[in-house]
Amino acid sequence: MSLFPCGHCGQRYPGRAASFYPAIVRGTIAVREKVRLCPACTLRLTLWADSSMAHSMDGQVSLTCSWCTESRELLFLFLTAFVPSEERQDWAGAVCEQHVAQQVVPSFWGPQDAAQAIQKLENGPVVGVDSQTS
Ligand SMILES: [Zn+2]
Ligand SMILES: [Zn+2]
Repeated sequence: MSLFPCGHCGQRYPGRAASFYPAIVRGTIAVREKVRLCPACTLRLTLWADSSMAHSMDGQVSLTCSWCTESRELLFLFLTAFVPSEERQDWAGAVCEQHVAQQVVPSFWGPQDAAQAIQKLENGPVVGVDSQTS
């Protein structure tokens, strides 16, 4: 079984964890916290990223929120995935203030850690903290 419970659903699972490095940048504040996910949550986050962000290799990051047409005061999103026996994947995107807490934070860090991540986004800068150390 995995050494760590899944960062989203809290389950232990057979096999190796996938590691995700989500980041949200709001001006000078950046929240970056690694999460380790089980296969089911890995699939869900990957599908979410495909529909919500662009593969950053494409170099086409949209400058409007992915959930509305807001184009001012955007926050920038970055996600890197290391899934066992798959290629590294990178996504990038943008979101408005209104949608970041609802749409992005729970998808990135899971419902349990969402409040904490939102607080860091308010109070940052917090860089390079690993919340899954226990
Ligand atoms: Zn999970
Ligand atoms: Zn929006």
